Amino acid sequence: MNPIYCGMPTTIFEEMSALARATGAINLGQGFPEEDGFPEVRRAAAEALVSRSNQYPPMAGLPELREAVATHYAAHQGLTIPPSDILVTSGATEAIAASLLALIAPGDEVILIQPLYDAYLPLVLRAGGVPKLVTMEPPKWSLPRAALRAAIGPRTRLLLLNNPVNPLGKALDEEELSFLGQLCIAHDIVAICDEVWEHVVFDGRRHLPLIGMEGMAERTVKIGSAGKIFSLTGWKVGFVLASPALLDPIARAHQFLTFTTPPALQIGVAAGLAKPPAEFAAMRAGYQRSRDRLGGALAGGGYAVLPSEGTYFLTIDLAASGIDESDTDFCARIVRDHSVAAIPLSAFYSENAPRTFVRLCFAKKDATLDDAAERLIAARNARS
Ligand code: GLN
Repeated sequence: MNPIYCGMPTTIFEEMSALARATGAINLGQGFPEEDGFPEVRRAAAEALVSRSNQYPPMAGLPELREAVATHYAAHQGLTIPPSDILVTSGATEAIAASLLALIAPGDEVILIQPLYDAYLPLVLRAGGVPKLVTMEPPKWSLPRAALRAAIGPRTRLLLLNNPVNPLGKALDEEELSFLGQLCIAHDIVAICDEVWEHVVFDGRRHLPLIGMEGMAERTVKIGSAGKIFSLTGWKVGFVLASPALLDPIARAHQFLTFTTPPALQIGVAAGLAKPPAEFAAMRAGYQRSRDRLGGALAGGGYAVLPSEGTYFLTIDLAASGIDESDTDFCARIVRDHSVAAIPLSAFYSENAPRTFVRLCFAKKDATLDDAAERLIAARNARS
């Protein structure tokens, strides 16, 4: 067996969801909305499933979807990226895997920022990359600029970045992105930018894509996810946008991973991307209300709730909430004794993890959030 996978546990998301399914707990762990989004998108896919071809679509994706992705990003993010620079993948994780497999040779160094999504590190290692980890520190989770500069060496090839950041709910601002862009340009680094949360940003924020920054068009791989855009996480339809010199090798890697993605889902996504901006704004507003509902109830019950600028997640600080327990102990206890599943933030670290933060998914119905808040407050009272 490959040493990277043997001994590796099942992902924390699957583990917690399995526990929640088995025990009937409220699942605020794995990030998925309780209700499916965008009914017309689902209808368009259902229609296509019975009326259109179900044979292999073109390897790079259906032309109508690549066209729709280009038009969508032009309208929403001011990007001028032609459909020929777009590749459709089976979800963002496949896009990240194909990008890493294609863009590094064994021994090349990849800069990763902790806390980091759990797939990143094994994918970098399996691609033969050497991870160079830097860490954002609480409570502000600022970019560790000196550490980023220090992590760069002659073999640095890639920066793998998630923006907005899961699990922190942090949206990088223009100044932070410009710092990263300048670093990439100065040291000839390519940025793989996982922007799956680009549409889930709050308080009037506009997502800023790194690929749109000065000098970054030729050195950024932008990755998006229809599952996150349309609240349909099970669909696993993603896209990669990159200039031809980067996209060509990524497409070669992709053709031997999943090769293509179900055509009916691609047609549904193409229809969805053309929806008027107001529908995306309404989706955002709904999640923002849910964030405030759960966050407000928890704060009222004595929890220290950290700000969430985007994503489906908010973070609570156990120590600041008067709970003297590690994140993993707390998560084990709340699922066992209070029937709520959550994710310990230490799952997003490979080294030096803080042990006091827990991630909660608020993309749920009001009644679920109210019920979960009540249980979490009881869990705090039982311990503080
Ligand atoms: N992105 C989801 C999360 O952060 C998990 C996806 C998965 O389970 N693979 O919760």
